[in-house]
Amino acid sequence: MFESSRIELSKSALTRNIRFIRQQIGQDVIISSVVKGNAYGHGITAFVPLAEACGLRHFSVFDATEAYWVRQAQTRTDTQIMIMGYADSDGLEWAIENEVSFWIFDMPRLDNALARARKVGKPARVHLELETGMNRTGLDDTEIRRAAEVIVDNPEHFVVEGICTHYAGAESIANYKRIMDQKATFDQLCQQIANLGITIPLRHSAASAASLSYPATRMELVRIGIVQYGFWPSKETEMEFLLRRPQQDQQHFSDPLRRVLRWSSRVMHVNLVPPGQFVGYGTSYVTTRRQKIATVPVGYSHGFRRSLSNLGRVLIRGKRANVIGLVNMSMMTVDVTSIPSVEVGDEVVIIGRQGNARITVGSFTDMANLVNYEMLVRLPSDIPRVVHK
Ligand SMILES: *Cc1c(COP(=O)(O)O)cnc(C)c1O
Repeated sequence: MFESSRIELSKSALTRNIRFIRQQIGQDVIISSVVKGNAYGHGITAFVPLAEACGLRHFSVFDATEAYWVRQAQTRTDTQIMIMGYADSDGLEWAIENEVSFWIFDMPRLDNALARARKVGKPARVHLELETGMNRTGLDDTEIRRAAEVIVDNPEHFVVEGICTHYAGAESIANYKRIMDQKATFDQLCQQIANLGITIPLRHSAASAASLSYPATRMELVRIGIVQYGFWPSKETEMEFLLRRPQQDQQHFSDPLRRVLRWSSRVMHVNLVPPGQFVGYGTSYVTTRRQKIATVPVGYSHGFRRSLSNLGRVLIRGKRANVIGLVNMSMMTVDVTSIPSVEVGDEVVIIGRQGNARITVGSFTDMANLVNYEMLVRLPSDIPRVVHK
């Protein structure tokens, strides 16, 4: 309502990222847009209609609550939702009632799905998650056989939409052998399931990194999270993509991805401080000359890490300004001595572009020791999201 900062989502950036993904994976593979973690901090409610406007029709979430929020946000009737993780009995019932699919990764989940499908009077739409080497969730050899029996015996209560697995770190070449082994195991188990009389409409295994780096993992559907938001899964994936390009293009590498998100606030107060004064709590920062200090109403309660005290940077009037002193719960102070024209009300960019300058989530996370993923999902859900063309 009157929040001290806002998050803008760029439709042109998302359009571009999806075009890039399409170029890489081809026209025939379904893209499931992964929107867990409040759409990686972008905000499910704002992001889902935007993604629909960019042509996406399939969404993956972690739990039934997120699926509920996607259903609330969707603007099209043909949008499909898939729960990859948690749902309790009520959640499963809701999912079945609302034609939301979910993963079956163990026998209790399958039995529960059957019971709930009977109760609701509609079939459960399921994806069988197979254990291929991640050793987290997934049906193993013997469970696959038992699950297939239950499904074949109850055709009116199940629609098997897909068979899937997840790789243990396709964004790092260090895991190459493990990923290849997982892929081989998956192929073999899919064959086993087909032999048990279950037809498999969709096989899926790849998240962003595998989709880009391991073409054979794409199959009929890919689950794309981080790349659609304009971030590489890792530096390695980015380098690997670059090195696959023709030699002459490697010299002029321009990032094909565009950040969808921009986070900004406004200068709340400016202050002239004489030399030799401490600024803010304690003694962590002392002025060395007469300095102009701007206060920005964003602090660690808004997801700006306290560890960025005396380290972070923001953009004001297209220039970088250093965070000085401790980041407070609700505000921070920045040194604008070298940008003398700064006044109250000026836009402050915390993540994103302003003029020709940019603060990347990457630079932000290197300093705060967080990966992009974690930095993004920490953005509080109550900062308003605004969509731009
Ligand atoms: C989060 C997640 C994805 C998406 O991962 P990205 O690296 O962001 O593309 C895909 N599949 C599963 C099972 C996930 O949990």
